[in-house]
Amino acid sequence: MRFNKLSAKQLFDGYRIRENSVLILKDDGAVENIVSLEEAGDDVQEVEGVLTPGFVNCHCHLELSHLKGAIPEQTGLTGFLLQIMQKRVFPEETILQAIVDAEQEMQESGIVAVGDICNTTHTLTQKQKNNLYYHNFVEAMGAQPAAADRNFGIYKSVYRIFSDHFSMDRVSLTPHAPYSMSDALWEKLMSFPQNGILSIHNQETEAENLWFEQKTGAFEQFFKALGMEMDFFKPSGKTSLQTYLHHFRPGHRVILVHNVYTSPSDIAFVHQAGTDVFWCLCPHANFYISRMLPPVELLMQNNCNIVLGTDSLASNHQLSIAAEIKLLQQYFPAIPLENMLQWATLNGARALKIDHQYGSFEKGKKPGIAVFK
Ligand SMILES: [Zn+2]
Repeated sequence: MRFNKLSAKQLFDGYRIRENSVLILKDDGAVENIVSLEEAGDDVQEVEGVLTPGFVNCHCHLELSHLKGAIPEQTGLTGFLLQIMQKRVFPEETILQAIVDAEQEMQESGIVAVGDICNTTHTLTQKQKNNLYYHNFVEAMGAQPAAADRNFGIYKSVYRIFSDHFSMDRVSLTPHAPYSMSDALWEKLMSFPQNGILSIHNQETEAENLWFEQKTGAFEQFFKALGMEMDFFKPSGKTSLQTYLHHFRPGHRVILVHNVYTSPSDIAFVHQAGTDVFWCLCPHANFYISRMLPPVELLMQNNCNIVLGTDSLASNHQLSIAAEIKLLQQYFPAIPLENMLQWATLNGARALKIDHQYGSFEKGKKPGIAVFK
């Protein structure tokens, strides 16, 4: 048996940073051991930067990769959503080529696993090459209760196509965002039997809370712009998260994505409800759309399980978890790199329930490797 030995000044094992250590991998990429430089013997290859397990990108929309640079920055969320709807249609070959290129970019930046949102089946062919691990979150949306049956049928057919090609634990039928879901659609989705891991865009903008609290703000104009009659909608007087969280059921793992306008009382509400939640941060996307960042320290102080995502190239200049960490380091310099690397690796793997294989350098796992510089 031949071994590959990799050393770096700093080696992050999924839990902590070790100095002067050597990672020993089998030829098939399985972790054999981590030893000291003295014990490692010959043929140690030195790596420049922090050696870490492969990164887990918990939130991406690979199928939107062709929209790179198409939408200007700082439109605010509702402006961004309207532009996505107008601009996402392109010739199929353009869409497919952008998917190939974006996946390659993720691979080169050390990403090994992706929680990917799907509205279409455009990514299916590329994903079947198994270059990266994917969890496919087939997204359902529809704010009009009268259309719930029709909408559910459409998204279920996309789900069926993905589940013909991927095992059941890698496909979910998931809600898009609180403002785009009617109670009737929630009910259908939550009683869908195969769902284990779910994802939802949460509190990405202040307007989302305003809509649920008072039925005012940018979402009022948004629905008007779409010609949607929202008379049936009654504000709850509570924040978005505190309004919809009850829909999830025991056994659901929920990845809340963005959390830019999440308050201490929202976090307390989630903890009290006992929902199995991971908090996914996509700082570059928030910065792109609204020059805002999530309350990272607040989430840490409240022992929230934090994970990282890139969101799509429609609201990001690159698909790189390392770049997300660098932006966080710039604005939250007091947070240790060790914490951020754990969000990017082991926590992400736990969120997607793939930590038996990914996320840390532990004997027998095949987590892939990444280098953070
Ligand atoms: Zn997203």
